[in-house]
Amino acid sequence: MLELLSTRLKCVGLSIACITVAVCVLLPSSFAQPHPRLIASAQESSSSSMTEAVPAEQACQTRANDTPEKLLECIQPSSLWNHLAHFQKISDEHKGSDGHGNRDTGTAGYKASVDYVAGLMRKAGYHVTVQQYQYAASEITGVPQFGTPDQSYAFTRDWLVAQLSGGGTLTASIQPGGGSGEGCFAGDFAEFVPGHIALLERGTCAYDAQVANAEKAGAAAVILFGSGNASPFQVRLTRPATIPVVSVSYTLGSELLRRYTDANPAVHLDIHMRPTSGVDYNLIAESPFGDTNHVVVVDAHLDSIYGAGMLDNASGSTTILEIALNMAKTSTHNQLRYIWFGGEEIGLFGSAYYTTNLSSAERKRIAFDIDMDVTATPNFDMWIADPAYAYNASQFPPNVVPQSKIGNQFFRDFFTSIGVVSQSSTFGNSGTDSNSFALIGIPDSGILTRQDCCKAQSEVDIWGGFLGNYEGTVPGNDGGCVDYPERWCDNLSNNDPFVFGLASKASAYVTLKLANHVFKANQP
Ligand SMILES: [Zn+2]
Repeated sequence: MLELLSTRLKCVGLSIACITVAVCVLLPSSFAQPHPRLIASAQESSSSSMTEAVPAEQACQTRANDTPEKLLECIQPSSLWNHLAHFQKISDEHKGSDGHGNRDTGTAGYKASVDYVAGLMRKAGYHVTVQQYQYAASEITGVPQFGTPDQSYAFTRDWLVAQLSGGGTLTASIQPGGGSGEGCFAGDFAEFVPGHIALLERGTCAYDAQVANAEKAGAAAVILFGSGNASPFQVRLTRPATIPVVSVSYTLGSELLRRYTDANPAVHLDIHMRPTSGVDYNLIAESPFGDTNHVVVVDAHLDSIYGAGMLDNASGSTTILEIALNMAKTSTHNQLRYIWFGGEEIGLFGSAYYTTNLSSAERKRIAFDIDMDVTATPNFDMWIADPAYAYNASQFPPNVVPQSKIGNQFFRDFFTSIGVVSQSSTFGNSGTDSNSFALIGIPDSGILTRQDCCKAQSEVDIWGGFLGNYEGTVPGNDGGCVDYPERWCDNLSNNDPFVFGLASKASAYVTLKLANHVFKANQP
């Protein structure tokens, strides 16, 4: 399918494709190029189409961009990159006690990110509100211990404690999950002995579901391991666990599995957690245009996981910022409300707070939500966050999945028009803020270009690139930058301007289409 993308990018009579080509030409030269064939082809094909002038940023932001053609030509790579670079600067200027720049929830770098976006949005004429809320979390105290009678495993090198893990000191035998070994179903624990430690593979369901099933089966703790993960990956629960939950490298997971089969030595865990709380902020910017009884929310989370968080999620934050700035003078049928959420990475806190504190009348006025979480992955897929595939889709009110189709369809329409394949995310909107909207009955869609590891051959066949990491070292298979503490590499260089432009234009197209879609009595 790479050929299809390259061919269509030759811009034969397709205005959207022409605009996309402009993205390729204005690439900053310093980024890693994991898709040389794709980019070379796009650059080559664009050379004959660059005679059209692109409007200046100032002109774009002061005119009505009321057609896809006008809006898309204003979503420009130089502007996207400048805002992204500013988030890097914010991080660099707000170093934590560990000496690393930071934009995590609860840090000065996060608040500076809020201030930066708020300033730009106010200047552009939006009505800006900063919603402040208190969140509860937990943190590790002391040095957690994990080992067998003859071996102690090194914290952070071999294993990590999950966010929102419970604490505890215990010695018990380990027992793998039954069935697929993932513990995604209660039946996987039919043979489980209460008091044992559940050893589960990283599954096809949410970590919360795996842990909840283990808790119900009486597990004393949960050890999660994933295939292909050379280092332990960070597990983020959205629901506090009552028992210790840790993740281990694949090497250690395999070793534990082997030792279970051989002699099954008792495993010792000693983890102390302390409840914490902090102040967090959601930034809400409302357009002066459009019907306030039919609001389309355009969201991205502004917080990072560790450090700068440039791919996850300064990229998505910048995508919606660029759309908002270029829509500032455009009247629409429905009102656009842009929200930068905090606390996403520590449990969807910001969006959960926002959605669960809407009055019934306010909730009914929101017709749709679109979410941009990671939009510039170097070794990308183009995935649509269709709530139909969410791990917790059964908890959504029945209107959500059918009414979300219109948003998914607009994303598909855009990508089809430029000859790029897009697919529904296999995990739907799980783990991102649109899931919070789905839970209160608001239809939603979104885009993600992937993170972590490991791109499979079937995905390479569609989008090109390399097997292994989606981001970080490409080609490589160490899991990337986003989800690994102490690598500190989710920086500007972890983003690809070509993908960034493509995903941002797709997001702009869908925003404009939904902004002018006629929702029937809040029914898409
Ligand atoms: Zn994210």
